[in-house]
Amino acid sequence: AQQLPDQKVDSLCPYCGVGCQLTYHVKDKQIIAVEGRDGPANHARLCVKGRYGFDYAHHPQRLTVPLIRRSDVPKSADLEMDPENILDVFREASWDEALSFAAGKLVTLRDQHGKKSLAGFGSAKGSNEEAYLFQKLVRIGFGSNNVDHCTRLCHASSVAALLEGVGSGSVSNPIMDVALAEVVIVIGANPSVNHPVGASWIKNAVKQGSKLIVCDPRRSDMARLAHEFLQFNPDTDVALLNAMMHVIIQEDLIDHTFIAKRTSGFEAIKQHLLDYPPELMAAICGVPADTIREVARLYASAKTAMIFWGMGVSQHIHGTDNVRCLIALALMTGQIGRPGTGLHPLRGQNNVQGASDAGLIPMMFPDYQRVSEPANIIKFEELWQLTPGSLDTQPGLTVVEIMHAIVQKEAQGKIHGMYIMGENPAMSDPDVNQARVSLAALEHLVVQDIFLTETACFADVILPASAFPEKTGSFTNTDRTVQLGRQALAPPGDARQDLWIIQQIAQRMGLSWNYPHVSAVFEEMRLCMPSIAGISWQRLERDGAVTYPCLHEDDVGEAVVFTQRFPTKDGLAKFVAAGLISADEQPDADYPMVLITGRQLEHWHTGSMTRRASVLDALEPDPVALIHSDDLLALQISAGDIVTLSSRRGTVSLYARADNSSPRGAVFVPFCYYEAAINKLTNSALDPFGKIPEFKYCAVKLTAG
Ligand code: SF4
Repeated sequence: AQQLPDQKVDSLCPYCGVGCQLTYHVKDKQIIAVEGRDGPANHARLCVKGRYGFDYAHHPQRLTVPLIRRSDVPKSADLEMDPENILDVFREASWDEALSFAAGKLVTLRDQHGKKSLAGFGSAKGSNEEAYLFQKLVRIGFGSNNVDHCTRLCHASSVAALLEGVGSGSVSNPIMDVALAEVVIVIGANPSVNHPVGASWIKNAVKQGSKLIVCDPRRSDMARLAHEFLQFNPDTDVALLNAMMHVIIQEDLIDHTFIAKRTSGFEAIKQHLLDYPPELMAAICGVPADTIREVARLYASAKTAMIFWGMGVSQHIHGTDNVRCLIALALMTGQIGRPGTGLHPLRGQNNVQGASDAGLIPMMFPDYQRVSEPANIIKFEELWQLTPGSLDTQPGLTVVEIMHAIVQKEAQGKIHGMYIMGENPAMSDPDVNQARVSLAALEHLVVQDIFLTETACFADVILPASAFPEKTGSFTNTDRTVQLGRQALAPPGDARQDLWIIQQIAQRMGLSWNYPHVSAVFEEMRLCMPSIAGISWQRLERDGAVTYPCLHEDDVGEAVVFTQRFPTKDGLAKFVAAGLISADEQPDADYPMVLITGRQLEHWHTGSMTRRASVLDALEPDPVALIHSDDLLALQISAGDIVTLSSRRGTVSLYARADNSSPRGAVFVPFCYYEAAINKLTNSALDPFGKIPEFKYCAVKLTAG
């Protein structure tokens, strides 16, 4: 019989950037069910993760007491610890001992090796307030800008291109605007899997008559509904997009008025694009020239057209160039700044937008205010009541750069200690064998998390934190909507709220922080973040969701931006041309196939939560490689067989699954399985602008057994 809850608590889904609102049903201090709520992004819809992915919070492997590494257990890069035997490696400690040890050693290393010898990773799983306090701690307590989070691994290249081109790194239009779009391009994204409720709005639009164009090396579920499906060759986004723009200019389908009044740099890109005729580019991207022409005409001639993209676009060494092309496409056709148009990079994690906004990135203070601008330094030193000249004016290191700096030989810039809150670089970083060598080499690693993650195995001290339903905070979804998540449960055992832990570390590093409530942190954020100045905590509590920019308390918030001007110095958007650059590592005789990594519907990122959610883990319990059936046949492998996948950097074994959505010669593998951590194979080469690794392309070989 159905159980009746003791309590219902309104909150949010902890997974993807769609930001669905939900209600937890709580009985006997346990969540027994989840129900969709009428939020602006979901209107009561939830996907399988939102509906069934909640019982990780009650998993017996939750960390419930602080832990300190036993002095006789050294760190080893190949350490893969069984959570059941955690006490063989760590001993239990009181909070006071663990916090004093965690902060004390950070202070010692900072004083011994200098302010740039420490670094911190915050998390897009945490709230805006946690992200804000964490970056403030690194900038003030550690003394440098060496702070980053997983945005570096998903949309850093999109943000770099958007800031350069249109002056803002977030979306121009919300997902719901798709209902107003005559034409919709989805490129390098699989929203049915990664943003399922968002995908349902796109599918609704198609039913109502919108023409969907799907561009992807893999045939996603969306392709079935597409007016045109362009299965371009992996790594050839720029060839395809430049060819489309070539057609639009040659056939005079450009928006002359928009280009003249609202943009700069058109003549230069027009010249550049002369070299990219569709006939020439068809040979590279594999899409027939006629199809390129048809799609270019369709997009440019529509009254309203919208572009969605995902990490298929961003996770390349030319990810910034890929996005520059999408921006140029929208600008030259005037498909931006109106309802039903615009640019929408689909955000991966629940709060990756908010964590970035809150300053959890090494080159910007909150609200994308550059650390290198003297006026910003003065502003933040005043707000944070610091002695003038205290803040570091140099951008800090990014995620992968930090991992490299741990093992560098030179003393200058070497990282000796880290504080990692809620991130799992021992699974999520590229070339993860090397990332694990780096983590093992740290003199001091503080990990704050809810489980013994693969990263926590390398910690010197582990601080047991709160899961999503155990805290109240604000979170910002892919639509720039700030929403309130409310506490439904108490943290288990002696686990504590993340905001409390950060402040305890800060206090032990000499900072007199004592925020009485999460709302006090949010109110401080409003003082330095003009985009959310109009969103009071009271308003969030009353309305539950407010979209920024929201400049004053009477401002309803702007769902569609760039309507009058772009937030650039001259108010204009800028065309930036992109040339053809190949992936860092090409297939060859030894490693003849291409590896593409990504996610699957049932699991979330490194799997630390969803693989401990009983329904989701039952649906997808084992690591799989998705391989075209012709490739399986050629290699005499049957679906369900165990196969070995290797690159120059590592090897994993996993199950073969026949999947003809992948092109021949390409293998797709989700990155959530610790027992087949696919990032052992990926390449850490970086996009020079966004510093994002090339997760979507490296050379591998596949063998039976
Ligand atoms: Fe959660 Fe995203 Fe699914 Fe909504 S679409 S329920 S936010 S995972």
